Amino acid sequence: MHHPSRTKKLTPVMQQYADAKAAHPDAILFFRLGDFYEVFSEDAIVASGALGLTLTSRNKGAPDEVPMAGVPYHAAHGYVAKLLALGHKVALCEQLGDPSKTKGIVPRAVVRVVTPGLITDTDQLDARANHYLVAIDGEAGGSGLGGGAAGFALLDLSTGELTAGTLADGAAVLAEVVRADPHEVLVGEGLEELARAVAVAAPRAAIRADEPLDDDQVGAVMDGAAEVPIHAEAAEHHGRWALRAAARTLRFAQKNTPSVRIPVRRIASFDPSGTLRIDETAQLHLELVRAIDGGRKGSLLDVIDATRTPKGARLLRKRLLAPLVDVAGIRRRHDEVELFVTHSRARGELQSALTDIGDVERLAVRATLHEATPRDMGALRDGLLAAPRAVAAVRTIPDATGQEVLGADIDTVADLGAHLASALVDRPPPHAREGGIVRDGFDAELDELRQIRRRGAELMTSMEVALREQTGISSLKIKYTSVFGWYIEVTRSNLAKVPEAFRRKQTVAQGERYTTPELDDLADKLEHAEERSLEREALLFDALLRRAASDAERVRRLAARLAEWDVAAGLAEVAHRYDYARPEVDAGDVIELRGARHPVVERLAAAGRFVPNDTTLDVSGERLWLVTGPNMAGKSTLMRQVALLVILAQMGSYVPAESARVGLVDRVLSRVGASDNVARGESTFMVEMRETATILREATRRSLVILDEIGRGTSTYDGLAIAWAVTEHLHDAIGCRALFATHYHELTELSRTLPNLVNYSVSAREHEGDVVFLHKLQRGPASRSYGVAVARLAGLPEGVLARARALLASLEAGEVAPAGKRDRARAKAAAPQLDLFGAAREDGARVGELVALLRELDPNRMTPLEALGLLSRLKAMLG
Ligand code: ATP
Repeated sequence: MHHPSRTKKLTPVMQQYADAKAAHPDAILFFRLGDFYEVFSEDAIVASGALGLTLTSRNKGAPDEVPMAGVPYHAAHGYVAKLLALGHKVALCEQLGDPSKTKGIVPRAVVRVVTPGLITDTDQLDARANHYLVAIDGEAGGSGLGGGAAGFALLDLSTGELTAGTLADGAAVLAEVVRADPHEVLVGEGLEELARAVAVAAPRAAIRADEPLDDDQVGAVMDGAAEVPIHAEAAEHHGRWALRAAARTLRFAQKNTPSVRIPVRRIASFDPSGTLRIDETAQLHLELVRAIDGGRKGSLLDVIDATRTPKGARLLRKRLLAPLVDVAGIRRRHDEVELFVTHSRARGELQSALTDIGDVERLAVRATLHEATPRDMGALRDGLLAAPRAVAAVRTIPDATGQEVLGADIDTVADLGAHLASALVDRPPPHAREGGIVRDGFDAELDELRQIRRRGAELMTSMEVALREQTGISSLKIKYTSVFGWYIEVTRSNLAKVPEAFRRKQTVAQGERYTTPELDDLADKLEHAEERSLEREALLFDALLRRAASDAERVRRLAARLAEWDVAAGLAEVAHRYDYARPEVDAGDVIELRGARHPVVERLAAAGRFVPNDTTLDVSGERLWLVTGPNMAGKSTLMRQVALLVILAQMGSYVPAESARVGLVDRVLSRVGASDNVARGESTFMVEMRETATILREATRRSLVILDEIGRGTSTYDGLAIAWAVTEHLHDAIGCRALFATHYHELTELSRTLPNLVNYSVSAREHEGDVVFLHKLQRGPASRSYGVAVARLAGLPEGVLARARALLASLEAGEVAPAGKRDRARAKAAAPQLDLFGAAREDGARVGELVALLRELDPNRMTPLEALGLLSRLKAMLG
């Protein structure tokens, strides 16, 4: 393969390329040449394949021929996005001057390497979620799953938020990875095993083994990269591994944005002990921010998100994934929501103002990174101008304590808003290069240059009129194109009248194009003014960016406060609209939900006909609920509902219930449904057991555990035995509040021996062979299983159903022993619960008859009439 650095004599430009590439060997280098970004060598091959570009070559036929592909610079954006989505890094090597004004070749340098985790372009970001680069550090070889402590850091470059903390072990790391949903992960040396697990937990993230980092470099790395020195303060709050992880994110970001400092001013503490932990599987199974199909629709977040600003949506998402565990903090959030429930008018006004705020946080950061476009600055202006309306709305809440709770006394950064308003045109363009950014009257020099331009245009018109008169060609026109500049156009039929003094410039189909010394002169002046006004605008825009950057921190503080109001007002709106109640949270032992509903199911699957239920779990009383009932009765829904309401309550939301009391929960652990973890190369049963093991290892007395059937993936007795033992362990050794749904009716016997276990069932009624689900909880075990009836609902063929009924009946009677003596014993033991369909055996006999009849007949020999006759016979046999 050709590589420019290996060929002997490079042209100066290719030498520049080779130097830039050598500094960024792992990135695809977009090398600016005039109006194009070119990619060379291996990069060209990769990029042309990924982007569908034509592969050509530079210096064709010469010894230094290299493959090449190119994209127009103004369209680069989309191509870069595509490469990032494929996990590539893209280095942008720019021209650092105007080629027409530079002697020799223009200097070029890489100004930015865009990697999947460092995207700041608002078009490429999900407005409603943070965009994280994660770093993980720890003892080499440690932090394997279940191993030692690990440092964990999260950087969102687009918002300038950096958070770091120490996590207990590999499992905690995975839970945080799932929560953060990062796009890129840096892993410290010696953590390969953990890196592999992370790759599974974050399938879309680019995982990178980071360069080594010594502890004694950490301080310099941090202070060298961040906007302000942050190491001294960080070192007071964070442990060794957390500091190193944070330093890794900063070092990586700095290396990839060499021209600016990283807009980070502090490292927030990531304190897992201060939050309700929701383990990795519970996050997925409870469909908190994403439904099982991966989409947002059908998730809890989707049904409670009525925020109006992107920052508010991000905050809500964060809170949902990290609810609190301190009573005072939770109550404060409920107070905020309550204020907006009570003062619905203020809420409406606030929300209407918030709709105009936009993403001022990310816009301010883009200004800091020097990446903001004129349109971005216009959006920042609009957002800042709307902020006082939001504050005014909150101030209408009459209660002084209310305003204190909401912190209505804030800096709206009005000075920056006003400055942007005076400087920018109403609708600034998407790019700075074509001007038209700055408002008339803002800058005297720019106004003057524009005046000249305008006058020049008038002069052109007068010249055109004069030339027409002078030549007698009434169709003569003075025109402009960007390629040829200004010219006089004369149509073919008038060529004879063209004066000597016209100099021919170009022949076109319609006629000829000319110029004159006077035209050249005026064109020169005009172009000069045009160019100077563009330069002036660029200068002014640059100053605006710097001004915005210097106020960025204030804007971010404003955005943060507005986001808090946004979240509270949004939750209040949901509470009001869907009839949620304020939960009472305390440090006690009881979870008591009255008239509780599943927030998602009540809005989607069972909209308008959801049956509320009561659930009371008491650590020192009935703490373990064993829930039985037919399939489809609503066992899973009930259990998830309890977990979701606890999460909602502790994140600071109202809950879908008549009333709710929640004695603090420290962790929500779950094993729900047959999760498909083939990616980890494990069978369903293995996954189930691994998840159960995690629960038994991690649950404390204060945890809430949800088990939806365990032991299903193995033989009946193995499964039952495991389920039995797990129940006992949860009850005796852990003593937490738990809900366990099972089809093993044998387990209901446990209520005799385990004092804190109680049987509940979700009711159903049988009606002419069909089941009718009532979805109502009742005390005591379920009496029946209704499996076959549900199978009928699902559309299993009648023949199979009949056979199943027959078998069921035989099993119940102990006539058939499918798997030996023990199962026969079980079938006998289970008989009282399974005895369902009296007619089953009869049906079985009838099916046998039918089959015999069908076997005998030969359709090829039947007349249509005979076939019809047979059909009615068959029908008659069904009775
Ligand atoms: P399986 O044992 O097969 O897993 P299940 O008992 O766990 O079934 P769910 O999945 O909870 O049953 O519920 C089945 C369907 O019943 C839900 O999709 C929902 O539409 C409806 N449903 C559940 N609970 C209620 C309720 N309380 N009110 C109304 N509809 C409900």
